[in-house]
Amino acid sequence: MDFELTDEQRLVRETARAFTDNEIVERARENDRNEHFDLELVAKLAAQGYLGAIVPQEYGGAGLDYLTYGLIVEQLGRGDSAMRTVVSVQTSLVCSAILRWGTEEQKQRYLPKLCSGKWLACFALTEPDTGSDAANQRTRATKTESGWVINGAKMFISMGNHAKLALVFAQTDRDRDPAHPHRGLACFLVETDQPGYQPQEIHHKLGLRGSDTAAISLDDVEAGEDSILGEIGDGFKVAMSSLESGRYSVASGCVGICQGCLDASISYSKDRQQFGRPIAAFQLVQEMIADMALETDAARMLVWRTAYLKDHRKPNSTETSVAKLFATEAAVRCANLAIQVHGGSGYVDDYPVERYLRDARVTTLYEGTSQIQKLIIGRALTGVNALVPA
Ligand SMILES: Cc1cc2nc3c(=O)[nH]c(=O)nc-3n(C[C@H](O)[C@H](O)[C@H](O)COP(=O)(O)OP(=O)(O)OC[C@H]3O[C@@H](n4cnc5c(N)ncnc54)[C@H](O)[C@@H]3O)c2cc1C
Repeated sequence: MDFELTDEQRLVRETARAFTDNEIVERARENDRNEHFDLELVAKLAAQGYLGAIVPQEYGGAGLDYLTYGLIVEQLGRGDSAMRTVVSVQTSLVCSAILRWGTEEQKQRYLPKLCSGKWLACFALTEPDTGSDAANQRTRATKTESGWVINGAKMFISMGNHAKLALVFAQTDRDRDPAHPHRGLACFLVETDQPGYQPQEIHHKLGLRGSDTAAISLDDVEAGEDSILGEIGDGFKVAMSSLESGRYSVASGCVGICQGCLDASISYSKDRQQFGRPIAAFQLVQEMIADMALETDAARMLVWRTAYLKDHRKPNSTETSVAKLFATEAAVRCANLAIQVHGGSGYVDDYPVERYLRDARVTTLYEGTSQIQKLIIGRALTGVNALVPA
């Protein structure tokens, strides 16, 4: 259903569709098999302008609205979630934070490099002992004469091995009150070409194998006084604003997974013959296809509602969580159904559906698990915050 799309949005979507079909789909299986982070393909994403879609043109971006950005991300998600993750991290988690919180100097220094793909960046919030309870950062930043020194460890950081810039969240207040963990939190723009920044590749993931994931140790990492995004104490707000954009991006990618599952299942069910008929002729197979169509449409509509709110600068955290929760869980359900439609063939990687399932699985975990999205929605509806420290 395209009733809200402009001609330009349709054109951008068609271009992204063709790019995905011609450049991404072909390589996705090999990159998944080889756990290969495809920097050549990342460069192509950058050349298409997909790393800075929502960044204004004056900073090297494409200056697109959120709906158009989501249309691109949906297509990339249909092709390969590993490449979609690159776009979500670079554009939503990093560029959007610099745009919203950065000084003019920080924007000029970093955004053109990030939009052009000259630099990759990562968003380093999660720690070995700090996941859902993101405010409870163990990483510490200590004031020095010339700036800050950061010590700690980060876990599961996408693109952490290749990033030239890391958004590092750290606690600046040694005596912070445990009842108010957000206080003293800060987000630092850390340039990674220094010996104290030590990333290590994480292998053997269930899915997203073509994506780069790192454990990072931070050992006396230096950050200048001008490297803080926002003010000391804004760290949690910076993280949440990034995640509001990131969750939208993840949800858009999951609409792509749903659509990919549907397309693959329709095509397979018309080819595959059993009992002398294409399996598409069986009502129970049609039911699975209809269920996938329902999930896909519903997920897309929730994502588009969020895009509308973002583009009209209306509050949208709850709606973003609704879209993220529904679209990510829908992608898992669709991928499961798609494997069922493909029978045994769906269990091997001749078809994309088993990869869809493995890749979709992480989307209900990262950028806030499904449980955390429910608590955000519950908090908005009841006015009671379950996400406070005991
Ligand atoms: C491939 C991959 C890429 C990632 N990329 C990044 C990245 O780029 N940057 C980054 O910072 N992080 C990244 N992450 C980390 C991800 O965001 C975290 O894994 C996620 O936030 C969950 O944290 P956790 O793993 O510590 O789980 P935990 O927080 O320990 O949660 C474990 C379980 O407990 C549940 N739970 C926790 N608290 C509550 C509660 N209050 N109520 C109900 N249930 C609760 C959770 O929902 C979950 O089911 C990535 C993770 C993966 C796997």
